[in-house]
Amino acid sequence: MHHDLIVIGGGAAGLMCAIEAGKRGRRVLLIEHANRVGKKILMSGGGRCNFTNLHAGPEDYLSANPHFCKSALARYTQWDFIAMVERHGIAWHEKELGQLFCDESSRLIVKMLLDECAEAGVRIETDCAVAQVRRGGEGFLLDTTLGQVRGTSLVVATGGLSIPKMGATGFGYELARQFGHRVLATRAGLVPLTLSGRHLDDYADLSGVALPVIAEANGRSFRAGFLITHRGLSGPAILQISSYWQPGEPLSLNLLPDADALEYLMTQQQERPAAELKTVLSEVLPKRLAQRLCELRFGNRPMRQHRPAELRGIATQLHAWPVVASGTEGYRTAEVTLGGVDTDELSSTTMESRKVPGLYFIGEVVDVTGHLGGFNFQWAWASGHAAGQVA
Ligand SMILES: Cc1cc2nc3c(=O)[nH]c(=O)nc-3n(C[C@H](O)[C@H](O)[C@H](O)COP(=O)(O)OP(=O)(O)OC[C@H]3O[C@@H](n4cnc5c(N)ncnc54)[C@H](O)[C@@H]3O)c2cc1C
Repeated sequence: MHHDLIVIGGGAAGLMCAIEAGKRGRRVLLIEHANRVGKKILMSGGGRCNFTNLHAGPEDYLSANPHFCKSALARYTQWDFIAMVERHGIAWHEKELGQLFCDESSRLIVKMLLDECAEAGVRIETDCAVAQVRRGGEGFLLDTTLGQVRGTSLVVATGGLSIPKMGATGFGYELARQFGHRVLATRAGLVPLTLSGRHLDDYADLSGVALPVIAEANGRSFRAGFLITHRGLSGPAILQISSYWQPGEPLSLNLLPDADALEYLMTQQQERPAAELKTVLSEVLPKRLAQRLCELRFGNRPMRQHRPAELRGIATQLHAWPVVASGTEGYRTAEVTLGGVDTDELSSTTMESRKVPGLYFIGEVVDVTGHLGGFNFQWAWASGHAAGQVA
């Protein structure tokens, strides 16, 4: 069986690439080892798929080479994907911060991609495992459960390591190494953080407490929601900062991002000298958290008994609460995998290998990782589109 193009991986990037190549008249075979394509699309955005972001731009991505993503993102923008969604009559809405979701279900996005594949004549094989890939003749020879298949070009769109039970494998990285590519160290991103020992004992029973914060680590900060869980810390602010933080590094939370804590405490001291600190803090923080902070750190005396230096110390801690996280929840729950195929050895315009002509890497398997909020799908669409123009 000879095809002009074989795409391994039927996720967001692989499907988009197959559609674009098929539209050019290429005979495309897409191989997916799971029993259906687009599983992560289906589970994304709480079942409504946060399919892109109105504000997506290169600054929303982490990569050893922050310039790499620019070309593909510029040539296939969020507006291009929105146009496809609208052509298929899928209703959508902006939730917040430019994040676009389906009104109904992420199933509609998978159906749209499958309809586009059908129109472009893409052959899709699910439940198909690839045992081996070799260079052969004019292109690539794959041993699969369907038998041997040949392709002039090969696109690797196998995603990252996140959520193994959804079909994630390290296959793309292995292929990259087999063909002489460097793979930068991978780790879980957009993932809850864990606490342990005393740090867990201190806060685990506050599971469910949520508040807006600014999370800061490694010179980056994100203003978003924060949630205490029975194992540690979660919420969008934590997921975002998890991509920048590594175990052992400092991480702090501004628990009062919209107030001047010192001004608030001094005003309360003047106006309500008999009020206890925990009562005063409960008016600007969730009550259970305010009480716990007083028990563990600040004490709980009437406001008039706190010296100015103490109030300054409390205010400083409220604006930069040091978090001692022990690690992350790992690939089991991570939304993305940081690191991956080194972009230095790929063309930023086509995603083609600089080492092996005809070989391409797209989507999450590449060392380009987006922030939370639709940016990862936009990278999958854009890199898939870029390869689909030439592969
Ligand atoms: C729970 C969750 C929610 C998410 N929500 C969002 C969101 O709302 N918005 C957003 O932008 N991003 C979201 N993401 C991230 C987003 O899903 C990924 O960044 C995106 O799917 C990457 O696309 P991809 O095509 O590169 O990889 P994937 O979508 O992972 O697709 C890779 C495909 O390759 C297949 N595969 C793997 N190995 C092989 C093999 N050896 N042979 C054949 N096939 C193979 C896999 O089964 C899979 O179908 C979410 C991720 C998770 C885990």
